[in-house]
Amino acid sequence: MKRLLVVAAAAFSLLAQADTYPTAKAISIVVPFTAGGPTDRVARDLAEALRKPLGGATVVVDNAAGAGGSIGANKVAKAAPDGYTLLLHHIAMSTMPTLVRNIPFKVESDFEYLGMVNDVPMTLIGKPALPATNYKDLTTWIGANKGKINLGNAGIGSASHLCGLLFQNAIQVDMTTVPYKGTAPAMTDLIGGQIDLMCDQTTNTSSQIEGKKVNAYAVTTNKRLTTPALKDLPTMQESGLKGFEVTIWHGLYAPKGTPADILVKLNTALKAALKDPEFIKKQEGLGAVVVADKRVEPAEHKKFVAAEIAKWSPVIKAAGVYAD
Ligand code: ASP
Repeated sequence: MKRLLVVAAAAFSLLAQADTYPTAKAISIVVPFTAGGPTDRVARDLAEALRKPLGGATVVVDNAAGAGGSIGANKVAKAAPDGYTLLLHHIAMSTMPTLVRNIPFKVESDFEYLGMVNDVPMTLIGKPALPATNYKDLTTWIGANKGKINLGNAGIGSASHLCGLLFQNAIQVDMTTVPYKGTAPAMTDLIGGQIDLMCDQTTNTSSQIEGKKVNAYAVTTNKRLTTPALKDLPTMQESGLKGFEVTIWHGLYAPKGTPADILVKLNTALKAALKDPEFIKKQEGLGAVVVADKRVEPAEHKKFVAAEIAKWSPVIKAAGVYAD
């Protein structure tokens, strides 16, 4: 009897929460990387765009950085499933299960999928002091500096880790990787000359490229970009790296077990945010493309992540670039 009462009380409290949601307290979007970086940029713009469709709710960003993005993801996997703790994560949700063998959560079963947000190209960039200003000269410089090159990334399992490993594999040159808790601090060190090269999303690199603070060599997408600051960059494939293609995408997640009506409210708000002209304009200015297809539906988001796991797993295994 006592147990029944406890269960009834818990069910009642979930119902009450769903009733007041989302205004009982601030919603926090966990970003698994440092503030000021590319994933953080997307999350802050999204938080802004979600406020109105969530009825004026307070939406804040919580940077839980480290371990290539798995600390933040784990934080959300273990958080109360009440709709007040969400995760914005990128392609690592599909590459981590292969790239990092011991992650403390299950991508497929520890989260509710809320819909996807955007697709973001990556760019290969170098410190301003590098004598190479185009990809051809970069290959000459790399050839002359083998064994001495430092490549920054956001930790094992991150997008920059994946892209950097695929690049080293494609050109058959090993570099010393320098891990950070996000590519914001890596960018500071690249500009300062402490590291030589980095792969990073255009949501972090476009203004630095435009301001000529770094050298830019190529984009990782199949096609050249149309964003003014990036339109002159060749693709990696044009530069001779056959089949080299990495596009970073972001999705929104809640802890498994979040009540269905809260999930509906969040998905409805996400769909509205993705149609917000201000949000679209900000993202396009950074080279990102806001999702305007069926991947905004939770089931399609989940299907897409599963397809990406299937796509990346053999590539990572064939390149032998996974880590413990
Ligand atoms: N760009 C980073 C990555 O390589 C993450 C970040 O700092 O947003 O995954």
